[in-house]
Amino acid sequence: MMKRVLVSGGAGYIGSHVTVELLQAGYDVVVADNLSNCDLTCFEGVKKITGRNDIPFEKIDCCERDAVDRLFSEFRIDAVIHFAAFKAVGESVAEPLKYYRNNLLSFLNILEAASAHGGCNVLFSSSATVYGETDRLPVTEESPRQPATSPYGNTKQMCEDILRDTVMATAAYGTEVMSGLDKPGPVKGISLRYFNPIGAHPSALIGELPRGVPNNLVPYITQTAIGKRECLSIFGNDYPTQDGTCLRDYIDVVDLAKAHVAAVSRMTDGRMEDGYEIFNIGTGRPVSVLELVNTFEKVNNIKLNYRFAPRRAGDITAIWADPAKAEKKLGWKAQRTVEETLASAWAWEKHLAGK
Ligand code: UDP
Repeated sequence: MMKRVLVSGGAGYIGSHVTVELLQAGYDVVVADNLSNCDLTCFEGVKKITGRNDIPFEKIDCCERDAVDRLFSEFRIDAVIHFAAFKAVGESVAEPLKYYRNNLLSFLNILEAASAHGGCNVLFSSSATVYGETDRLPVTEESPRQPATSPYGNTKQMCEDILRDTVMATAAYGTEVMSGLDKPGPVKGISLRYFNPIGAHPSALIGELPRGVPNNLVPYITQTAIGKRECLSIFGNDYPTQDGTCLRDYIDVVDLAKAHVAAVSRMTDGRMEDGYEIFNIGTGRPVSVLELVNTFEKVNNIKLNYRFAPRRAGDITAIWADPAKAEKKLGWKAQRTVEETLASAWAWEKHLAGK
């Protein structure tokens, strides 16, 4: 029987790319999204790319317990990938309770329903933000987490811990996940810690669609290039790095999506070595902001309007992944070059502008 994956937040940026890769790998997918931070543009793109018009779309808010429970009654779900969450760091500082309510409650509801219906495999979308600032680079999964510097980051740490504890407690229900049953079962869990996801699908039919002024670097670059924004501010050129700008590990969104397929198959095929596992998902290559901007200009043959601006509060100097564990255990490795990724980001921006 085909395995079915529930993708919460599946209409969003990463969720839509993951839905494509899951379908192409032969999984059935149910997309659940409340459309609070996106419209149906990417979901329509997913249908076009995959040629599938039959993907179930459930417009639900995962903060509604009954709605989540209903999903698990209606569909036999072998794995859940939980993306549905707020993600703006600055906003989370201004409105912490909104972030704690949304990001925690939705995950609690997923976990309760997952366990109540025979157990389930749960993949949580975590973030490299849990590592905070560290001198010991690259970071491995064993690197200690640092106290979170924003409510957003704190929800990522808390959800990781909630998943770990749930796995431990529900192990009492046995080892075999029997999705779809009307009795409690074990939850198995994987947290994927993403570094900086960027880029778009090579078809240019799905990509990042920020509402309002983008917080993240690449959408700010592409919107400046297309003329939606006047000038990119590079936050800080006095960091202790080779060119003074911050170092990050930019991971292509299609590569990232493939890591989810690898993690889901590890869970659903019973290949986990532990009930709860953590993987870094990055390239292992540090790239500076200035390098990224210059590469964008070069591959797309564009002169970008940018200036150096003061540091942004809360930014760390440098972070990049040691992705060895993901390669060894998931058989996954980033494939696309930064050049390809930045070309895809630009193709998507042009697609949005109708060019
Ligand atoms: N950045 C920048 N200008 C912008 C947005 C981001 O210079 O308009 C820099 C930011 O200081 C950081 C890097 O780009 O060094 C990546 O930032 P982003 O917000 O995309 O991700 P983060 O690493 O903060 O999660």
